[in-house]
Amino acid sequence: MNCDEARCELTGFHFGTLTGATRDALEAHLPACPACLGEYLALKRAAECVDDVPPPSELSRARLRRAMADELRRARRWSWWERPLVVGVAAASVWLALGAAHAVAVGEGRAPFAALGMR
Ligand SMILES: [Zn+2]
Repeated sequence: MNCDEARCELTGFHFGTLTGATRDALEAHLPACPACLGEYLALKRAAECVDDVPPPSELSRARLRRAMADELRRARRWSWWERPLVVGVAAASVWLALGAAHAVAVGEGRAPFAALGMR
């Protein structure tokens, strides 16, 4: 087993998922290779630090749930009755703008909608 092969197997070795032949080869390689042994010890230390982290307190979890609920409330979607209302308001706004342009054009004695470039 060379160093590249050994380093690919370090995680499996740490978690005990290697097959017999690979595990035997790695167990023979590690004591003879300070670089791979150092890599393995660093990986082992990092994995153990992650295991030592305590779970979040009940207060932290409650705060997180509240923050998520606030975020979801802010990002809520339009309900079924709000969508036609929004479309209606938008259509009415366009209609009023066209009417105003028409009134201005007629008031100036030009053809209807000439102010908008329409003939
Ligand atoms: Zn090595």
